[in-house]
Amino acid sequence: MTKLKWYEDLSKLINVNHVKKDEPLRTYTFTHTGGEADILVSPESNNEAGEVLAYCYENEVPVTFLGNGSNMIIKDGGIRGVVLFLGKMKDISHNGNKITAQAGAKIIDVSRYALEKRLTGLEFACGIPGTTGGALYMNAGAYGGEVSDVLESAVVVTDKGELQAVTAEDLGLGYRTSNIPDRNLLVLEATFALQAGEYDVIKEKMDDLTFKRESKQPLEFPSCGSVFKRPPGYFAGKLIQDSDLQGVQIGGVMVSTKHAGFMVNVGGGTATDYVNLIRHVQETVKEKFGVDLETEVRIIGED
Ligand SMILES: Cc1cc2nc3c(=O)[nH]c(=O)nc-3n(C[C@H](O)[C@H](O)[C@H](O)COP(=O)(O)OP(=O)(O)OC[C@H]3O[C@@H](n4cnc5c(N)ncnc54)[C@H](O)[C@@H]3O)c2cc1C
Repeated sequence: MTKLKWYEDLSKLINVNHVKKDEPLRTYTFTHTGGEADILVSPESNNEAGEVLAYCYENEVPVTFLGNGSNMIIKDGGIRGVVLFLGKMKDISHNGNKITAQAGAKIIDVSRYALEKRLTGLEFACGIPGTTGGALYMNAGAYGGEVSDVLESAVVVTDKGELQAVTAEDLGLGYRTSNIPDRNLLVLEATFALQAGEYDVIKEKMDDLTFKRESKQPLEFPSCGSVFKRPPGYFAGKLIQDSDLQGVQIGGVMVSTKHAGFMVNVGGGTATDYVNLIRHVQETVKEKFGVDLETEVRIIGED
């Protein structure tokens, strides 16, 4: 089957305005890099997402899930098959001390929603620029908190196309990891169990974390956040700094001079620049300190 056929079929299956062909992905990623998706589908409901997945599984069309693109480098050759962009499914609701968010709701918005409802537990997420689905996938965390501390359950679609309710334990959450990729699950929504708190206390904590983040991270440039995971016993940023790599640039991508763990697109950077700079940093750190840096950022797509 060709991408034209996928486009025609999917346009009949769901709202035609939610299906695009040869869509540039650089506008969907935080690094502002990446090639095109053969087909990009932006469902607005669980039903639409389910229909698209069923079609892809039935017709053996490769499918890639995309949240806010804040932890992804999509290579310059783009992505073959269908990219399922969840960003339009962003409802957030609450019931007592529990908040339920659709996969595409930004975790920052869920954190702000918790503040409005005077619920504590999600303050750590107030500056993490991903979606709820992406935050579960990565077990996102910051400043001592992470998704696994507050996640109660989720609704997912399995790789057999079945809708399933799962508990947090089922998702095998660990340091910046989960079993979502191994099981090829699509997260549709998540429920967080929080505690009643006081508005001013929650707000103060969020303001404090925001201040820390803004003073330490190069948020004025496109980036994908921390490129590497923390290697056991070390800090990736410190190893990079001590390897004199800050300011090193390949093409339009540079190791940030403000935060050594970040690589910023200083203008015209490509995904290939990112991949080459990542490799250069890994090789240099390995040579100097014998430490393997594992990427936290997901690198996908074709060269
Ligand atoms: C400036 C900056 C600061 C950051 N700070 C932090 C931080 O403090 N802590 C932290 O943990 N991270 C941080 N990140 C990284 C990133 O925001 C998180 O990893 C976030 O959880 C990724 O979510 P996303 O929606 O952007 O995922 P994407 O980048 O879109 O996708 C990441 C992975 O999740 C998968 N995925 C996305 N949605 C779904 C879904 N619904 N179902 C199944 N799989 C899905 C994708 O297929 C992909 O493999 C930062 C990034 C930036 C750019």
